[in-house]
Amino acid sequence: KPLLEVRHLKKYFGLGGKKELKAVDDVSFVIYKGETFGIVGESGCGKTTCGRTCIGVYDATGGEVLYDGKDIRKQTKQERKEFTRKVQMIFQDPYSSLDPRLKVHDIIAEGMQIHHLVSSKKEEETMVQRLLRQVGLNPEHAGRYVHEFSGGQRQRIGIARALAVDPEFLLCDEPISALDVSVQAQIINLLVRLQKERGLTSVFIAHDLSMVRHISDRVGVMYLGKIVELADSQELYSHPMHPYTQALLSAIPLPKPGKMASVNRIHLQGEPPSPVSPPKGCRFCTRCIHASKQCHQEEPELMETVPGHFTACHLYKKK
Ligand code: SF4
Repeated sequence: KPLLEVRHLKKYFGLGGKKELKAVDDVSFVIYKGETFGIVGESGCGKTTCGRTCIGVYDATGGEVLYDGKDIRKQTKQERKEFTRKVQMIFQDPYSSLDPRLKVHDIIAEGMQIHHLVSSKKEEETMVQRLLRQVGLNPEHAGRYVHEFSGGQRQRIGIARALAVDPEFLLCDEPISALDVSVQAQIINLLVRLQKERGLTSVFIAHDLSMVRHISDRVGVMYLGKIVELADSQELYSHPMHPYTQALLSAIPLPKPGKMASVNRIHLQGEPPSPVSPPKGCRFCTRCIHASKQCHQEEPELMETVPGHFTACHLYKKK
C-alpha cells in the first residue's frame, strides 16, 4: 500500500531575474508502507532537495505529494502537527543537528513534550533511557552534553531523538557520510534493525551506491533533477539499464582487488551541467557515450522497460 506518492514534483530556487535553479524537475515515484527506498546520485543532483520537498520542509514549485492519500499542502493544522510527528529526519551532520546547549535527555525528550506523548517526568525519563538503550547507548549518557560524544554516538542520539515521537516514516539524509568508515556499518546496521523492529517506512539518501544496495528494497537514481532509473535494488544492481547507472556501478571497487581488471569501468566525460541551464533533450546527453541526435532533442520519459524496472533512456522501448 502506498504511503507516499510523489507526482510530477518540482522544486526550483529563484536566483534573481529570470534565472532558476531546477533542483527537482518533474519527479514521480511511490513509496510503499514498510519499505526502504534509496535515492542515489552525485552531489548536486537534487536528491536532498527532493527528500525535503517530499516531507514538506520545502514548498514544492509544482506537482503534489500525497501522504497516506492526502495532499500534504491541504492538511489542516491538526493534520500538519500529526504529520510532523509521524515523519522524522535523520540528518547528515550529527555535529550541527544537535543543540550543544542541551543535555542528551532534553534533546531526546523535546519532541515527546511538543506532542504530549508523556504524562509525567518519571515516564519521560523511562522513555529516554529505553531509547538510549535501543540505539546502543548507556542510559547514563542522558545527563551529558553532545560535545562529550564521538560522531557515531552523536548520530545514535539523533536517531533516538527521531524515534522518540514514535514516527512511521524516516527520511535519512546521507546519515553516514560525515562519519568515520569504521562506524558507518554500525549505524547502517542499527537503522536496518530499528526499521524492522518498528515497521518503519524510510527513504535513504546517499551518493554511495554500494551503501544503498544493502539497505534499500528499491532504488531511484537521480541525475540533474530527474529520476533516470528506478527498480528493485537487486534488479538495479544486477541489470542496470541507464548508461548513467551503469557508469556509477562500474566505479564501485570490488572487494577482491585482483577482480578489478575484469570490470568494464565506464569513465564519465566531464562534469554534470548546471541545473540552472540543463541541456535540451536527455539531461545526460553531454556525458553519455551512446548519445544520438534524438537524445539531444527529445527528453526521454521514465517508463517501465522491464516489469517493475523504470528507465528514462531512448535506448529502450516501453514494455
Ligand atoms: Fe544516453 Fe540518449 Fe539514453 Fe540519454 S537517452 S542516457 S543520452 S542514450
